[in-house]
Amino acid sequence: MIYPIYIYGSGVLRKECVEIDESYPELPKLIEDMFATMYATEGVGLAAPQIGKDIRLFVVDGTPFAEEDPTAVDFKKVFINPEIYEESDEEVLMSEGCLSVPGIHEDVYRPERIKINYLDENFVEHDEELTGWPARIVQHEYDHLDGFVFTDRLSAIRKTMLRNKLNAMAKGKFSCAYRTKQK
Ligand code: ZN
Repeated sequence: MIYPIYIYGSGVLRKECVEIDESYPELPKLIEDMFATMYATEGVGLAAPQIGKDIRLFVVDGTPFAEEDPTAVDFKKVFINPEIYEESDEEVLMSEGCLSVPGIHEDVYRPERIKINYLDENFVEHDEELTGWPARIVQHEYDHLDGFVFTDRLSAIRKTMLRNKLNAMAKGKFSCAYRTKQK
């Protein structure tokens, strides 16, 4: 099943999401559908709130960046209850977009390297250090679990320049190629 994507202005994108455990109903099916939805919309990451579920879960597949970034090879993963517990002081500027913020791409500063602890789809715990595109994708998706979108991370001046566009988007004025929802 391909889920509709919740768009900027939707309440669920501003929620602090909750942790889940293995008793979460039909989790394997949900994860399968999240990957299907991410591929159908040509995303490299998808967080549960983007399909209307306020739980701490996201999926990623960095394969489209594999040619330019060797660390992105085979970077297809499920993150449940993740915790970023260390960030490098060095920040890097990289271009981001978001399925929930269609039509806007901006350069965003974020830590170059992170350490993260998380559970995979089998509730096996992992502890990893990420850099390059994997670190970037994961930080973007992780933000969604705390109610942030990437435009929140922009400089004050860039935010001011985007304000009208974002306000219009929140009122339903946007266009994109996939099915969306807003409430
Ligand atoms: Zn996003």
